[in-house]
Amino acid sequence: MAAKIFKNYIGGEWKASSSGETFKNINPANKKEVVGRFQQSTARDVKEAVAAAAEAFPAWKKTPAPKRGEILFRVAESLVKNKEKLAQDMTREMGKVIKETRGDVQEAIDMGYYTAGEGRRLLGETVPSELNEKFCMSVRMPVGIVAAITPWNFPLAIPSWKLIPALVAGNTVVIKPASDTPLSVHHFVRLMEEAGLPPGVLNLVTGSGRGVGTPLMDHAKVNMVSFTGSTETGSLVAQHCAKRMKQYSLEMGGKNAILVMDDADLNLAVEGVIWGAFGTTGQRCTACSRVIVHKKVLKKFTNLLIKRTKTLKLGNGLNEKIDVGPLVNEGQQQKVHEYVKIGKEEGARLLTGGSYHRSGGCRDGFFYKPTVFADVAPKMRIAQEEIFGPVLSVIACRSLDHGIQIVNDSSYGLSSAIFTQDVNRAFQAIEHLDTGITYINASTIGAEIQLPFGGTKGTGNGHREAGTAALETFTEWKSVYVDYSGKLQKAQIED
Ligand code: NAP
Repeated sequence: MAAKIFKNYIGGEWKASSSGETFKNINPANKKEVVGRFQQSTARDVKEAVAAAAEAFPAWKKTPAPKRGEILFRVAESLVKNKEKLAQDMTREMGKVIKETRGDVQEAIDMGYYTAGEGRRLLGETVPSELNEKFCMSVRMPVGIVAAITPWNFPLAIPSWKLIPALVAGNTVVIKPASDTPLSVHHFVRLMEEAGLPPGVLNLVTGSGRGVGTPLMDHAKVNMVSFTGSTETGSLVAQHCAKRMKQYSLEMGGKNAILVMDDADLNLAVEGVIWGAFGTTGQRCTACSRVIVHKKVLKKFTNLLIKRTKTLKLGNGLNEKIDVGPLVNEGQQQKVHEYVKIGKEEGARLLTGGSYHRSGGCRDGFFYKPTVFADVAPKMRIAQEEIFGPVLSVIACRSLDHGIQIVNDSSYGLSSAIFTQDVNRAFQAIEHLDTGITYINASTIGAEIQLPFGGTKGTGNGHREAGTAALETFTEWKSVYVDYSGKLQKAQIED
C-alpha cells in the first residue's frame, strides 16, 4: 500500500509544496515501514507561510489573551483524548518505547493546561513613580512572528514548549519540525486547527534544515527564532539571527553527569543511571552519559550497573515489554558505533554492549546495545562529546569536590544529579554544579513543565523554556507611564 501523503499547513489550508516533491518518514524499528510521506518544501513555501503569519498577526494580537488561552485549553483536552494514537504514531516515527511516547504526549498536555492559564495572567508589574500623580506599570507584548525549529527526540513535547507559550502571548508562528518526526507535529497542528485556532496563526512547513530552516530564519519578517537541536546548528542560527538583528533562543546539546557518593543508596543510584543513560535509547538532551562514582563504592556500583544493564530488552517500542527502542536513524547508529571505536582507542574498558543489535526481530531496525565503558578519564572524547546514544562512561572520583570538578569540566551545562544521603553534600552540589538543572537522588532526566528548562555554557544562550520563564522568551516588555497630574512633570530633573 502506498504511504499516506501529508501536507503543509499554511494560512489555514493544507497544501502541497511548490516543489511537488515529498520525502519519506520511516520507522526506525523497521526501515521497511514507511510511516508517511511529507512535503519537501522550498523557500517559496516558507515565504507563503511567513506572509500568512504576518497577515494573521494583528487580529491574533488583538484577541484577548484569556480567549487565546481558551483555545489552547481545548488543544490540551484533545491531546488527552488522542493520547494513545499520538503515542503510537510517535513510537512508529522515532522509535522510543510506548511508555515514553505517552510521557511525551503528557508533557504537551501539561504544557497546554499550565500555559492556557497564562492567558488570564501574563503578569506584568506595577511600581511606584518618583513623581506624584503618575502611574507606572510594565505589560507584556508579543514579539511578532516566531519561527520554531525543532528536533526529533521529543517530537510533540518540544514543539508544545514553543508553540503554546508563543501563541498564548499573541505571537503567530511558523514551525519547521525535524525531518525524522514530522508526523507528531502534523497531528498537533491539526488539533490546533480543530480547537479553533484562526487561519495563519500557526503554519507548518516540512522539509530539510537547509531548504526550509535557513530561509525561515533568514526571512526579514520573522522577528524571533526559537530553536532546539544540536549546538552546531544552534550556532548557525545565532550567526544568521545576529546579522539580521533578530531575537533567538537556543536549547542545545548536553553531556550530563550523575555523581554517586560513597554514602548513596547504590541500588537506587543504579536505577537512576539506567533510566538516564538508556531511556529514549540515550537520545535525550538530558541523558546521563557520564557517571562519576566515589572510588570507595566504584567496584560494587559497577558490578550492579552491568548486571542491571544486561537485563534490558531491546526491540520495537510498541511492545509494552521492551525497555530500549532503536536509534532514530542509520546515521545516528553509525555515529554511536564510531564513538565506541573512539572509546576503545582512547583506552577505556568496554564492559558491555559496543555493537549493533540485529537479533530477535531487530534486523531491519537501527538498534544498538546498551554500552558501558569503565576506566574512562575525564578528558577522553567519549567523556567530553555528546554521543546521543546508549553509551555510558564510568569515571572514578576521590571526593565530592573532585566529582563536581569532573562534572563541570564540560563545554555543556544542561543537567546533573547526585546520589547521596547527606544533606550537606546535596546542597553543596546544588550550589557548585554548573548546570541549568540539578536533581538530588533522581536521574538527570524527567523535567516538569512548571519549572524553567535549559542550560548553561554551550547548552544555551541564557534563555529558558517552560514555566513562567517561557513568557520571558516569547514576550517583549513595554514600560508604561501614565501622568494624571495635568502638568508636565520631568523625571530626574530638579526644579
Ligand atoms: P539538529 O540536527 O541540529 O536539528 C534540529 C533542527 O534544526 C531540525 O529541525 C533540523 O532539520 C534543523 N536544521 C538542521 N540544519 C539546519 C540549518 N542549516 N538551518 C536551519 N535548520 C536546520 O539536531 P537534532 O539531531 O534534530 O537533535 C539532536 C540535538 O538536539 C542534540 O544535540 C540534543 O542535545 C539537542 N536537544 C536539546 C534540547 C534542549 O532542550 N537543550 C532538547 C532536545 C534535543 P532536519 O531535521 O530537516 O535536518
